[in-house]
Amino acid sequence: METKTVTKMAKCVCGGKLSHTSIEKNGVKLKVQKCSKCGEIYIPGSEMLKYDIIKGRSPMVRKIRKSGDSLIVTVPKQIVEKFNVHDGDVIAFEHHEKEIKLKIIHME
Ligand SMILES: [Zn+2]
Repeated sequence: METKTVTKMAKCVCGGKLSHTSIEKNGVKLKVQKCSKCGEIYIPGSEMLKYDIIKGRSPMVRKIRKSGDSLIVTVPKQIVEKFNVHDGDVIAFEHHEKEIKLKIIHME
């Protein structure tokens, strides 16, 4: 089955109409658009991200784990390297509307 990741499609490249449907990709249910003419399947980027999260394939996504009474999240390697994060550094959580910004504070 050939699939393409897209943001938003009105029509298939073949000119056929797209309709909303859902498929199962390796056990993960995804909302997709399917061409009624050629059968091409278009997966929205947000659905691909959901797939990557469920499959643990996105390096910038972390699952929250429980440890005692705390919830723990690890720092992705790319962030560790890019921002020179070390053991003992502090991360400050900044609340912005519906998002959280993480600020790394180096302690040395
Ligand atoms: Zn088509």
